[in-house]
Amino acid sequence: MSSNNGIQIPTRLPLLLTHEGVLLPGSTMRISVDTPRNMQLVKSRLLKGTSLKSTIIGVIPNTRDPENDTENLPSLHSIGVAGMAVQVVGSNWPKPHYTLLITGVCRFRLVGLLKEHPFPVAEVEQLELLEQYTTPGGAAGTGGAAGAIREDGELRDLSQMFYQAAVQLVGMLDMSVPVVAKLRRLLDSLPRETLPDILASMIRTTNKEKLQVLDAVDLEERFKRALPMLTRQIEGLKLLHKTRKVRPDDNKRVLAVRKGGMFPGRQFSLEEEGEEEDADDTASLERKVKGANMPEPALKVCLKELKRLKKMPQSMPESALTRNYLDLMVELPWSKQTTDCLDIHAARVLLDNDHYAMEKLKRRVLEYLAVRQLKSNLKGPILCFVGPPGVGKTSVGRSVARTLGREFHRISLGGVCDQSDIRGHRRTYVGSMPGRIINGLKTVGVNNPVFLLDEVDKLGKSLQGDPAAALLEVLDPEQNHSFTDHYLNVPFDLSQVLFIATANTTTTIPPALLDRMEVLQVPGYTQEEKVEIAHRHLIPHQLEQHGLTPQQLQIPQDTTLEMTSRYTREAGVRSLERKIGAICRAVAVKVAEGHEVMKSEASVAEGASQGVQDGDMAVPPEMPIVIDHIALKDILGPPLFDMEVSERLTLPGVAIGLAWTPLGGEIMFVEASRTEGEGQLTLTGQLGDVMKESAQLAISWLRSNAKTYQLTNMVGGSDPLEGTDIHLHFPAGAVTKDGPSAGVTMVTCLASLFSGRLVRSDVAMTGEITLRGLVLPVGGIKDKVLAAHRAGLKRLIIPKRNDKDLEEIPAHIRAELDFVTAANLDDVLNAAFDGGFPVASLTQPHLVSKL
Ligand code: ADP
Repeated sequence: MSSNNGIQIPTRLPLLLTHEGVLLPGSTMRISVDTPRNMQLVKSRLLKGTSLKSTIIGVIPNTRDPENDTENLPSLHSIGVAGMAVQVVGSNWPKPHYTLLITGVCRFRLVGLLKEHPFPVAEVEQLELLEQYTTPGGAAGTGGAAGAIREDGELRDLSQMFYQAAVQLVGMLDMSVPVVAKLRRLLDSLPRETLPDILASMIRTTNKEKLQVLDAVDLEERFKRALPMLTRQIEGLKLLHKTRKVRPDDNKRVLAVRKGGMFPGRQFSLEEEGEEEDADDTASLERKVKGANMPEPALKVCLKELKRLKKMPQSMPESALTRNYLDLMVELPWSKQTTDCLDIHAARVLLDNDHYAMEKLKRRVLEYLAVRQLKSNLKGPILCFVGPPGVGKTSVGRSVARTLGREFHRISLGGVCDQSDIRGHRRTYVGSMPGRIINGLKTVGVNNPVFLLDEVDKLGKSLQGDPAAALLEVLDPEQNHSFTDHYLNVPFDLSQVLFIATANTTTTIPPALLDRMEVLQVPGYTQEEKVEIAHRHLIPHQLEQHGLTPQQLQIPQDTTLEMTSRYTREAGVRSLERKIGAICRAVAVKVAEGHEVMKSEASVAEGASQGVQDGDMAVPPEMPIVIDHIALKDILGPPLFDMEVSERLTLPGVAIGLAWTPLGGEIMFVEASRTEGEGQLTLTGQLGDVMKESAQLAISWLRSNAKTYQLTNMVGGSDPLEGTDIHLHFPAGAVTKDGPSAGVTMVTCLASLFSGRLVRSDVAMTGEITLRGLVLPVGGIKDKVLAAHRAGLKRLIIPKRNDKDLEEIPAHIRAELDFVTAANLDDVLNAAFDGGFPVASLTQPHLVSKL
């Protein structure tokens, strides 16, 4: 078979051992190179060589398992194919390797191995030349390539049969695939003897079969071996076509036939397995779409998309998008729902069991549930729980879902500033997704869950549209039965969903949104309530979370009280829960180690240390570890807050005000000082406009009443501002403050400054002032009172008209505090200073009597 025409391969060839496939002359194959021997070959031969010859290497099929490809060279297959490396690509991921694209040139026989290291090199004998085939025309001249096969009658018949079978096969394939079209074009011009190699490498054959073709050096033998494979493939295709006739569309579908043959580890074949799977997938998707119980418009859209999907080749990116869309549509709970199992009595018990205190909120929630029970399609307002963090808003929402027997899903809206977060992206965008509402429905899998819209007050606004506007549609009972997510593009009925919102403050909720909701204030807890909550809920919960039992850890009430007063200063119980968690962790270590309890608990340590002395390290202490205040200090460190506020009130010009923040009430030290100057008022501490005006009001009122109260400036004159500059400061300077309720505090603070008298150290106050000296009511009284109580203050001055708010305050706290209700500033000043703040006319007789 050898000839002197065309390429003459070198007689010494470096050998590449492949274990992934069999390269045949005339075909191209991608080979992954990662064994040390092959890597070395690529490096020193292919990457360093410069001549055409250096790109020719011998490819020998290696039947050995690549894992065992060790130092020793395996026994080599005697026939190989000389290949020309067309492309070398290197990569370091996941491990260093090269990928070669190699075209088979001709067969060779191994004559002898010349060297083994670092890669094998062998002396070879060329068996045939590719060029020989491509020289068209021959003695017979029967047109085109057929000429290469001459005299031999049997061989000619065989080659003719093979050619016809090849034509038949190509005819059954989809011509829109470029490789198929190319093959059909070339089929007539290719020399017939090349056909067995080329077709054997293209059709679905095993490595073993390819090896048989490779080993058939004799042409007749090669035809005989390849022909049955070709016929088998044709029969297989015929069968497939028959089964597909039911769905004529599918015949047109493109077959993913790749040019160049095989990829590593995967044999090339004309009929991809994926095709069948794909067809199955689409059919099952269609079944699911029909069974999803969608409303008419959604079903229509789905069927349309399905039709499009069927026509689309799988390799198109849009096919995956459409499939995702359909998957989502199928998964959405169009008509799936849970049945409400509401029993008001049970709901009351459950709410009481889950939550201590918060009576008002629980009552309103029960009312809401009761009305729902009586009227199932209630289009009532959306409940919005407003209060400081950690007061149990989310937790009540969860309980509502439990009492109704509904699914619960929390949608956190904090920081959301893009409309598409709520409403989804249009499907035209790359990576488009449905919004959080639709996603939530997909997660819970029913269309009547309880959705908790967390932190509606923290919605942002940006160029991408206003998410609050999108929420309006979601929450409006008149509109939400046909909520359209941009991604779905068909309406979804949200009217069965029970929405509950939570917020820290109502001031930042857009008014239109607030209008849709019924606000339920959840105030902070008193110290005693916190201690109760800790013992009823937080401690048992934390113990369970840390795998401890009450027999191992005990936290007495005193310790909890100390934790609430000296380690946390918050309206809710979240950081209290964290502190309890910290204690549990510390104790868990002790228990796990079976160590002696802390020295501080000497009283109980004796019992506990027994276990250790016994030498059994895993045995927990027998006695519970009791956390007293020394143990508390050991675990949590020194107290973070000091109860003593009196030290700060040692100079005139300081008064304690009460502020309300979204995080609960707070006490605030207002400080004033004066220096010689031109009567300027400086205000610091990031005050808002309303507060600045309050300061002006306070100064004006004091100036106009300076004589009455014997207020003086620095030089003893009767106008406090004459020759004097005043500076008023509100601490926590980095936090913006605003609101009118600091009016009385400013007056008291300045009155103290101008009179040189100290304000009582245990008094705090709140109230708006007018120019005439009246004290007007303010909001957030309960939170403010609780903050004052937390800080250990005793007397509170509040506006007279806030009297009614005191009813909300637990009786024991009311009993501990001395409330002074003030109708005007005179009342305030009298209550704020020891012995009152006497007006001049009243002091006259007193002075006279002294004389
Ligand atoms: P919020 O949503 O108001 O910020 P959470 O509902 O997340 O607060 O509550 C924080 C933790 O405090 C939860 O573990 C909750 O169970 C607990 N908690 C708050 N208030 C109470 C209460 N009154 N009774 C029992 N546990 C409570």
